[in-house]
Amino acid sequence: MAHLHATGHHHHPERPERLEVLLEALGGATRHGRRASRAQIERVHDSAYVDSIASLDAETWLDGDTLGGPTSWEAARLAAGCAIEAAEVGGFALVRPPGHHALPRHAMGFCLFGNIAVAARHAQDSLGVERVAIVDWDVHHGNGTDAMFRGDDSVLVVSLHQWPFYPGSGGPGTSDETTLNVPLTAGSGDAAYLAAFSTLVEPAVRAFDPGLVLVSAGFDAHVDDPLAGMEVTERGFSELARRSAQLGPRLGAVLEGGYNLATLPRLVEATIEGFDAA
Ligand code: ZN
Repeated sequence: MAHLHATGHHHHPERPERLEVLLEALGGATRHGRRASRAQIERVHDSAYVDSIASLDAETWLDGDTLGGPTSWEAARLAAGCAIEAAEVGGFALVRPPGHHALPRHAMGFCLFGNIAVAARHAQDSLGVERVAIVDWDVHHGNGTDAMFRGDDSVLVVSLHQWPFYPGSGGPGTSDETTLNVPLTAGSGDAAYLAAFSTLVEPAVRAFDPGLVLVSAGFDAHVDDPLAGMEVTERGFSELARRSAQLGPRLGAVLEGGYNLATLPRLVEATIEGFDAA
């Protein structure tokens, strides 16, 4: 399904080749996921917005940098459905479009549906999980996930991100009891991320005592990513993964950003190794 949601001819960084290189590298170890139902998506999105994505019949810019088209609904349903499956079976959903910038009524920042948010609500509604912790290490603030669960004390949303940076939110003073935003300065690498994990993320998640940990795994904080200015290495992602998997009794992960096609497969493999080593 890597060919769906075709954006590559616009030289868009969020392009089908991202999944193609992952399937090429990991093919034997992957399996196809299923589509999310409308009801599952509408747990976090307005139905009129879902209609607008389902009825796209021509290429359309949904915001300044988010492209939609006739195959986007199929791709976005699969992305949300694979995230659900990751929550169910403990896997890593390799999907596009990504999801953590999507808002209840709007596409944003390459994202159509909040895949990880759909998975979190599914876990609560259908898997008997009371409290879900979402850990987002994509280089950008997970503003959509943040917005969807603000004021909901059953979902802890943690985001580590470059700040100030796109989308501009998630800066100092934006945390509350079940929202932990960790803004990091440009140039931060493994040491800064792991220190933030030790001092902020791990105490917060452990105190929350989640029944399920979901990771928004973006790889655009990597030192060679073209879209951002962080310096996390392959070893750093592996360690972030290992530590994330120790934060709760169950874990699922969902791909967010990561735009260097040469490094993405190895970073995903290193992350899976980290999850497995926990
Ligand atoms: Zn990102």
